[in-house]
Amino acid sequence: MEHFDVIIAGAGPAGLTAAIYVRRAAKTVLVLEAKAWGGQIINTPDIENYPAAAHISGTDFANSLYAQATALGAEVRLEKVVRVEDLGEAKLVRTLRDEYEAGAVILATGSENRKLGVEREQELTGRGVSYCATCDGNFFRRRDVAVVGGGNTALEDALYLAELARKVYLIHRRDGFRGEEATAALLREKENVELVLNAQVTALLGDKRLTGVEVADKRTGEKRSLEVQGLFVAVGRVPENESFRELVELDASGYAVAGENCRTRIPGVFVAGDNRTKEVRQLVTAAADGAVAATEAVRYLNS
Ligand code: NAP
Repeated sequence: MEHFDVIIAGAGPAGLTAAIYVRRAAKTVLVLEAKAWGGQIINTPDIENYPAAAHISGTDFANSLYAQATALGAEVRLEKVVRVEDLGEAKLVRTLRDEYEAGAVILATGSENRKLGVEREQELTGRGVSYCATCDGNFFRRRDVAVVGGGNTALEDALYLAELARKVYLIHRRDGFRGEEATAALLREKENVELVLNAQVTALLGDKRLTGVEVADKRTGEKRSLEVQGLFVAVGRVPENESFRELVELDASGYAVAGENCRTRIPGVFVAGDNRTKEVRQLVTAAADGAVAATEAVRYLNS
């Protein structure tokens, strides 16, 4: 069985930053990723709040981070981690393909899209319903679309789609946004964006493809149909910790419990990034977690 000093589950900003720090401490590291390196940031067209990088696309950011980590000697393999076992000094990491042994493990698996929870959502996914504006927005050029959600993702998606689509409805269940006011202000200036506030999507319309959404006003109960060919769901994320449920403590929402030192209840197992219990989930805090978790892992190995 192959042995690495540190195995990192997840090649997003937290995992790849951790890999950089592990390599700079001259330890061996394997990064295992289920989907594609970069994590959710690859869906962000323009990052504007990362220190000293006023504008960079999520893809460029991810590619640059990957290049930096691999140039330092980090090994990245596309394999989904399904289980991590604590054997005391060693940790056993099982993927869908193989088994590995590590001295320390960093769980940096991030989060996945939360579903809206409306009937026929699954059936119409890929037939008008999407969770990624930058991936699918192009299919809706000069068409009418809706975005649902009130966080930074929904605001940024609506802004991005406003450049492509004829009309963008932004549907949010409250009248205050969770996302940054600076982005909301830009949206309010767009002539082809209509804010549909205090509203909930109650039905998806259309037979084989989405042709519209029904929304209900939360205060009056009044229903209205919006004719749209695309619905972009941006209602938050859920942590990807299912494979570690038996290993580490998870809170009621499924986040792996750890403080700012990224240590879990198991010695030698650390958690970094969006799947950790924390207040602020941002690119910069994911990268910070990666640095902390790696430093703690190296300290653990050297102790
Ligand atoms: P989020 O901040 O958790 O926002 C989710 C939004 O969806 C909230 O407005 C929430 O409404 C709404 N929502 C949740 N469940 C819903 C449901 N069942 N039906 C209707 N609406 C629902 O998620 P996010 O926007 O994906 O962002 C995730 C994290 O990434 C955040 O920390 C965000 O700041 C960060 N992020 C940062 C950037 C950036 O810095 N450029 C870009 C994207 C994301 P309520 O507000 O009423 O709860």
